[in-house]
Amino acid sequence: MKKTNRYVLTVHSVNSLCAGMKRIVFTGKDLQPFANTPPGSYLKLLFNQFGEPVHCTLDSKQKLLVRTYTVRHFDQQHQLLTIDFMLHGGTVEDGPASYWASTATIGDKIAVQGPGFSKNISQQGDWVLLMGDLTALPAISAQVEALAADSQGYVILAVEDEITDLRITTPPGIQIIQIKAEDHHALASALHDIEWLSGLPSVWAACEFSSMRVIRSELDEQFEIPRSQVYLTSYWRKGRSEDQHKIDKRQDMEDYSTLR
Ligand SMILES: Cc1cc2nc3c(=O)[nH]c(=O)nc-3n(C[C@H](O)[C@H](O)[C@H](O)COP(=O)(O)OP(=O)(O)OC[C@H]3O[C@@H](n4cnc5c(N)ncnc54)[C@H](O)[C@@H]3O)c2cc1C
Repeated sequence: MKKTNRYVLTVHSVNSLCAGMKRIVFTGKDLQPFANTPPGSYLKLLFNQFGEPVHCTLDSKQKLLVRTYTVRHFDQQHQLLTIDFMLHGGTVEDGPASYWASTATIGDKIAVQGPGFSKNISQQGDWVLLMGDLTALPAISAQVEALAADSQGYVILAVEDEITDLRITTPPGIQIIQIKAEDHHALASALHDIEWLSGLPSVWAACEFSSMRVIRSELDEQFEIPRSQVYLTSYWRKGRSEDQHKIDKRQDMEDYSTLR
């Protein structure tokens, strides 16, 4: 992602999506690069070293904190960009992005850079399996809405409390299963509870770092799914800020690729 693609967004509306999640719709100028991006593209919210939102697009020498969020939806006609924030902790020290989202009101401004593109679910499988926690709900929702109408498979979501209205439009052959986010084994355990469809699945999962590692070893060792069919990533790590998590993630990828 080029650092120069910066925009200032203004909060247009704030709504609760479900317990612990907020949907914020932003307006901005020159947001055209967010049109026609693949589903699940992301942007980076910019904060200063004190965890306060940056309000301008000028490059400065100060060290910025960046926090990654999925573009849930972009309305090109009205230049409205939607982000769904999972809320955790109640202070800026607990996480500047979550804190900012929890206190944001209409008219607030924040600088962002993007868009960036993530890897989406492979189109090569016979059926699909998308998994994640609430941080991945926006990326999963955007991808599911882009699936072919005759797609078959599952979305497995780890949630604290069942969500009655997920606001996803799914093809009829996709079943959404919500499981209790008890610990980092919850998503991997759910792999054993679904009825595996015939043929090869395409798997896409994003969640907490330790959960991702358990899913990965389960898919490798128990289900023996070819790597080409799988995209697994972690979106955050318990006890680590995004900057620290990025370092852990890089190391984990190196270790994993030398093992295989
Ligand atoms: C490509 C990508 C897309 C993402 N899209 C979204 C999205 O659309 N919505 C969304 O909510 N998140 C999303 N995330 C996850 C989000 O970037 C992280 O949760 C990020 O760490 C939040 O920043 P923060 O400033 O709130 O906390 P940080 O300063 O990064 O972390 C502070 C503390 O909070 C903890 N923490 C961070 N996230 C969580 C969490 N979710 N639950 C509990 N504790 C947490 C950390 O372990 C750390 O101890 C995405 C991540 C990636 C890589």
